[in-house]
Amino acid sequence: MAKSKLCYCGSGKLFDDCCVQIHQGLRVAATPEELMRSRYTAYAINNLSYIPQSSLFMAE
Ligand SMILES: [Zn+2]
Repeated sequence: MAKSKLCYCGSGKLFDDCCVQIHQGLRVAATPEELMRSRYTAYAINNLSYIPQSSLFMAE
């Protein structure tokens, strides 16, 4: 397992420092953009269990 791959969301940050922390509840998305990135990444890694709970944070 390579730990240094970039996040799928295109932020340029390492995967382990980016959306995965939101997926695991280590931190909350600070902006709507970050939330959308985390949802995209969840699709990209097939982490479908994250999608329904993340929708709770959507404003609309
Ligand atoms: Zn990301």
